[in-house]
Amino acid sequence: MEKILLKNVTRPDSHLLQNYIQSGGYRGIKAALKLDPDTIIQIMKDSGLRGRGGAGFSTGLKWSFIPKDPDLPKYLACNADESEPGTFKDRVIIEKDPHLLLEGIMIACYTIGAAVGYIYIRGEYEFGAKRLDQAIAQAYAGGCLGRNIFESDFSLDIIVHRGAGAYICGEETALLESIEGFRSQPRIRPPFPALAGLYHKPTVINNVETLSCIPSILERGSDWFASIGPPKSPGPKLFAVSGHVKHPGVYELPMGLTIRELIFEHCGGMRADKALKAVIPGGASAPMLAAADIDTPMDFESLAEKGTMFGSAGVIVMDEDTCMVKTAYVINRFFSHESCGKCTPCRDGTPWMTQILKRLEHGEGRQGDIELLESLCSGIFGNCFCALGDAAVMALRGALNNFRSEFEYHIAHKKCHP
Ligand code: SF4
Repeated sequence: MEKILLKNVTRPDSHLLQNYIQSGGYRGIKAALKLDPDTIIQIMKDSGLRGRGGAGFSTGLKWSFIPKDPDLPKYLACNADESEPGTFKDRVIIEKDPHLLLEGIMIACYTIGAAVGYIYIRGEYEFGAKRLDQAIAQAYAGGCLGRNIFESDFSLDIIVHRGAGAYICGEETALLESIEGFRSQPRIRPPFPALAGLYHKPTVINNVETLSCIPSILERGSDWFASIGPPKSPGPKLFAVSGHVKHPGVYELPMGLTIRELIFEHCGGMRADKALKAVIPGGASAPMLAAADIDTPMDFESLAEKGTMFGSAGVIVMDEDTCMVKTAYVINRFFSHESCGKCTPCRDGTPWMTQILKRLEHGEGRQGDIELLESLCSGIFGNCFCALGDAAVMALRGALNNFRSEFEYHIAHKKCHP
C-alpha cells in the first residue's frame, strides 16, 4: 500500500523544511488558502476522516461546530499527549516528519479562523518537543508560519506546550486546563470546547495523526481519501504494535484488516512461534480479546461489536505464557496511579481494585475477591467525571470475561495457571 503518513519518515533528514518541501510538502496548505473555509469543511466531511485519537468522531463535523463570528478569537489545540500504554504512533510523525503535522495544523487553523495553534506534547517526549520547536523555527524563517503565510491574508503562530507526565492531560478538557496553567483535571461538559474551550473561547482539539491526514486530503481530494479502506473508516491508519510479535513497530495500513493479518502478515508472526493468547486492540483501556477473535476486522464498528474498541490502535499482543491476572494488575495499577482524584469512584475505586489484583497476583487472593472486583466495576462504571474510571473498568472486565478461570486458579492454588 502507498505510504501517506509515513512516506517521508525513512528519508534522511526528513524533519528539515527543505526536504519536506522537496517531497511535495506544503502543497495542501497552498491549496487550502485558495478555498473558503466552508468548502474545506465540506471536503473534510466528504473525505470521511475520523479522529485518530480514540473517539473516531468526524473531523469535518467537529470543525463545523466552531462559531463563524470573525471577531471571536478561536484556537486549535493539537493533542500530542500520547500516553496510553501501548500507543506510540504519533511519536513517529512528531520526530520524523514534524512539518506534516504543522501543515495539518495550518489548514485546520485557517479553516476555523484561529490565529494561534497549540501543540500539547507529553513531557516525556523531550526529543519530539525539540524537533517541533526546530521545525516551527524553520517554518517561520521560510515564510510558512507567522504573518501573511505564502503571501496570503492568513497569519498564524504555533506554540509548543510541554506537559509534565500526567496521563490525564490527554483528556481534552484537562489538556486545556493545563495549557491555561491550572492543575490538569477534566472540565464539566457542556459547554463543549467548540463553544467554550481554551480561555473559554471556541476551540478545536485534534490528535496528531488526524491533523497529519489533512494535507493529503487537500492535495488529492476527498474521493481519493474516502477510497482507502472501509467506507465507514476510510483513510490511512497508523498501528502501533508491541508485545510478543517478531517485528513490533508502527505500521501504516488501511483500517479493516484483521488482527490475524496484522500479526502474521505484517509483524512477522508470534515471537519464538509461541501461541497467541490475547490481544489488546486499542491501547490499555480497550478490553482485551482472546485468540479466538483474531479474525475481527480492525475498525471502529467491528471491534465495538466484539465488546472492545479501536481506540488509539495501540495493539498489545500477548503469547501463551502471559499471566492475565498480572496483566490486569499492571494495567489497573497504571490507571489508579494516573487518576486525577477529582471524583470519588475513580479516586477511591481504582486503588481498591489494584489492591485486590495485587494480592491475587501475589498468591494471597481470597474467596469472594472476583465478586468484589465485579462489584467495584459496577460502582465505578458510568459514575465517573471522565473516561479514565470507565477505562480502568473496561480493561479489567475484558480480562475477567475472557480469562476468569485464571483468576479462580490464582485464588484456589495461590499461583499462576500452568
Ligand atoms: Fe479524575 Fe478519574 Fe474522575 Fe477522570 S474519572 S475526573 S481521572 S478522578
